[in-house]
Amino acid sequence: ATNRLRQASARSRSKHLFNRAKAVFPDGTTRATVERDPFPIYLQRGEGAYLIDVDGSRYLDLNNNFTTLIHGHGFAPVAEAVVDLLHSGTCFANPTEHEIALAELLTARIPAMERVRFVNSGTEAVMFAIKAARAFTGRPAIARIEGAYHGAYDWAEAGQGVAPDKDGWEPAPVATPAYRGTPPSVAKEVHLLRFNDIDGLQARLSAASDRIACVLIDPMPSRAGLMHPEPDFVKALSQTARKHGILIIADEVLNLRQGYAGASARYGLNPDLVTAGKIIGGGFPIGAIGGREEVMRVFGTADARPLLSQGGTFSANPVSMAAGRAAMAAMTPHAFERLEAMGNRLRSGLRASIAKRDASFSVTGATSLFRIHPKRVVPREYRDAYLGAEATSLMRGMSRHFLEKGILLPYGAAACLSTAMVDSDIDLILSAFDEFLEAETQ
Ligand code: PLP
Repeated sequence: ATNRLRQASARSRSKHLFNRAKAVFPDGTTRATVERDPFPIYLQRGEGAYLIDVDGSRYLDLNNNFTTLIHGHGFAPVAEAVVDLLHSGTCFANPTEHEIALAELLTARIPAMERVRFVNSGTEAVMFAIKAARAFTGRPAIARIEGAYHGAYDWAEAGQGVAPDKDGWEPAPVATPAYRGTPPSVAKEVHLLRFNDIDGLQARLSAASDRIACVLIDPMPSRAGLMHPEPDFVKALSQTARKHGILIIADEVLNLRQGYAGASARYGLNPDLVTAGKIIGGGFPIGAIGGREEVMRVFGTADARPLLSQGGTFSANPVSMAAGRAAMAAMTPHAFERLEAMGNRLRSGLRASIAKRDASFSVTGATSLFRIHPKRVVPREYRDAYLGAEATSLMRGMSRHFLEKGILLPYGAAACLSTAMVDSDIDLILSAFDEFLEAETQ
């Protein structure tokens, strides 16, 4: 009966809301959702690890607002931290102590964040990190990883989601604007690197070294495949960038959730700038640009004017700051270890199912993050993880199967756990996947 409830035909309130929404939104929504065919699932509320939709169905949430909610929904310390602020003022043009407290927490934990500035989203953080690298080096261009997602700034977006043409992947794709809103001239200053490809990295950075300000890299790029950075690649990246005076921006908007000190520290990357977002706002909008003190001086010093102007009406608003601090303070080393142990149990369970059924699937990810691939060989880079039409339809089918089992599973990007989850939630995911494979391999 529960399964039937979760089928599209039973979602009459969601259907009704979508019909209303079509009159005001160009494609009916503002939110991208895991499943929007024939209409999205409208939510009523969240409750720890679970979501409850407007028709009364419950789902285990493996999206967590695109990996933002490391504690799941309705985390009490966050609610307690913000409730008074709702009565006493939610945004001011002057600074508050809340921003200092969150900055102190982040700079104490993340080695590459000697200094920090707050903005309102990961997109803005990446944009200002790129501008900072340009201001610091005096160079216009950037290099970035093929296929990776870094938000919506034109330069960070060019080269995202590239696809093979009729002759396959060669010659290597050049950056193209992700969408029609970006002028083609932007892509000319964007150089694409393949993840874990040392020779390509060295050749491409050397060929344009006098124009490239920075390499923008997510240590475990989720949409490009959520694969591990190989130690030799990380080493070669550092050496080549240093040699040419190119800065490294580690985009940890998503992957900061990998540990107490973040992802760069975990994988031995030593960036000049680091961007953060998502978990550091405790469920409220946020972004942060951090970096070496010398580089962060482009934003100004106590006694010198900035090289780069940077502002934002809602930046460092007390609500995001206080919520972020409450969420992050609860992410003790022990909390990270518990999440990682749950993630390890989940990934090995998924792999055991695949091996038992000799299925053409693989699993990537680390700590609280995972991604299931419809490929036997574990992806090392975007091209391995790329989903063509057939693979996309298979993954959509998998996501629907999970939905009917009461689990909201994103595909083509990272899925994640939260501290609100318990062992029985992991069991639920494992049995849903095993049933899916059983049907697939028959
Ligand atoms: N960078 C990375 C690695 C991301 O995963 C995202 C969002 O998913 C962004 C940047 C953009 O962040 P926001 O959606 O807060 O603008």
